[in-house]
Amino acid sequence: MSIHRSHILVCSGSNCTLRASVPVRMALRAAIADQGLDKEFKVIETGCFGLCQEGPIMVIYPEGIHYCGVQPDDIDEIVETHLKKGRVVNRLLYRGEAEQEVTLPSTPFYQRQHRVVLRNVGAVDPENIEESLARDGYQGLAKALDTMSPRDVVQTMLDSGLQGRGGAGFPAGRKWDFTLRASGEPKYVVCNADEGEPGTSKDRLILEGDPHAVIEGMAIAGYAVGASQGFIYIRGEYQLSLQRFRKAVEQAREYGLLGSDILGSGFSFNVEVRSGAGAYVCGEETALLNSLEGRRGEPRYKPPFPANEGLWGKPTLINNVETLANAAPILMHGAQWYRSLGSEDCPGTKVFTLSGDVANRGLIEVPMGITLREIVEDIGGGIPGGRQFKMAQIGGTSGGCIPAEHLDIPIDIPHLDDVGASLGSGALLIVDDSHCMVDLSKTFLHFFAHESCGQCTPCREGTMLMRKLVDGIAAGSGTRKDLELLERITATMRKASLCGLGQTAPTPVLTALRYFSDEYEAHIDSGRCISGACGVAVGGMKS
Ligand code: SF4
Repeated sequence: MSIHRSHILVCSGSNCTLRASVPVRMALRAAIADQGLDKEFKVIETGCFGLCQEGPIMVIYPEGIHYCGVQPDDIDEIVETHLKKGRVVNRLLYRGEAEQEVTLPSTPFYQRQHRVVLRNVGAVDPENIEESLARDGYQGLAKALDTMSPRDVVQTMLDSGLQGRGGAGFPAGRKWDFTLRASGEPKYVVCNADEGEPGTSKDRLILEGDPHAVIEGMAIAGYAVGASQGFIYIRGEYQLSLQRFRKAVEQAREYGLLGSDILGSGFSFNVEVRSGAGAYVCGEETALLNSLEGRRGEPRYKPPFPANEGLWGKPTLINNVETLANAAPILMHGAQWYRSLGSEDCPGTKVFTLSGDVANRGLIEVPMGITLREIVEDIGGGIPGGRQFKMAQIGGTSGGCIPAEHLDIPIDIPHLDDVGASLGSGALLIVDDSHCMVDLSKTFLHFFAHESCGQCTPCREGTMLMRKLVDGIAAGSGTRKDLELLERITATMRKASLCGLGQTAPTPVLTALRYFSDEYEAHIDSGRCISGACGVAVGGMKS
């Protein structure tokens, strides 16, 4: 095996791939080969480094210098100046200005982050299991199989306080406990990777960057609850995730980390990969189970809950990608370690896709309890273009809108609940003062009216009615009575809808009405859009 003087990591996550990281990588490999340097420099494809808007990103080790916005035309200069002469190409540094920020961890974007789930994302080649193994991959599984009973594993998850990272925030250990205690055979583990929330791509980037962390989490879960078969349901549009996960499963089988008698423990576990077909509602756990069974993806009535009657009526543990990727570090380092990372009510970290009107956009992982202001100003680098922060929508399209007066709110479940928001799926959309809340509400409601599966009346009719009312207000034909009607419809939907889609679809509009009622009233009373985003006069507004 040859040892290279330098490793050059090129992001091959989907965001950098869209920005030409493939031609960059090909040009780099070709230039290195042309110069006869291939014994000294090794080019490695990785998952996302996080700072997506600066992509394609390249990191050169051992010095750790990172270059942003690299294009194929930059490769000759990188080879001649950096690789051959050891000098930094200043113009490709972060923002092209801060020479002290030559390594990724030295940028403000990274300094407030704490990477547990993303520990290997951007650090390993996701298509090479050896790289994962070299960074403690499958050590959590080995520890469980070697030294812990299934009950010990479940107890550790309970003690860790990990809450599900898919949206509802239900304690993960309790789900594991219910499934372990459930009677019925066989049992199943299902990983929910049907990430359909607009603005969220953190599960996609975890799968693309470190699929072995998810496989390991599924195997640990299988051992804990007594399941020998796992399924992962990946959103159909996530082709790179599907491709890398399938390859990772094959490699794990080759290395005896999936299959029969794993690591000589007597425990057997397999993973089957399934692809979704693009329905947002299939991210709801029981709709996902229906879809896995080959039926129409509609939510089921609960109870019974999946832990007792899940896939094909058998006890089933369903966890989201990020939840399962937490399992191995918790087993490796212990429940108390995990508790020490976050806030008292919400241990651990949370991965977000940070987007919108903020200087630094991308994939971040922060300790629970960090404030919204710290995320926006320190990690996000503030609001660009001289604009002001208006609100943050957290949790995706169904998430609450948090105004500037709550910028210092700690990000965890109880504090968000206090202001009518929730942690949700992991989208964090920052909006500046150039946007109109009525206009944004319209966008949210068009989405939900389209995605409602139509099974229950409150959601099917409620989303359509809300959309019609807000369309009218935005167009200048709304009345004060419409606001009352909106409140009544939202109350009914929250109470009477069958699944989370209908229960949470009104949330952004409710919080918009709560914090930005002046904007609704200005549209109704004077046909005026305060932010100027919708135009000015009644009937003359942009719709
Ligand atoms: Fe379908 Fe909406 Fe009812 Fe859920 S709440 S079952 S998405 S109609």
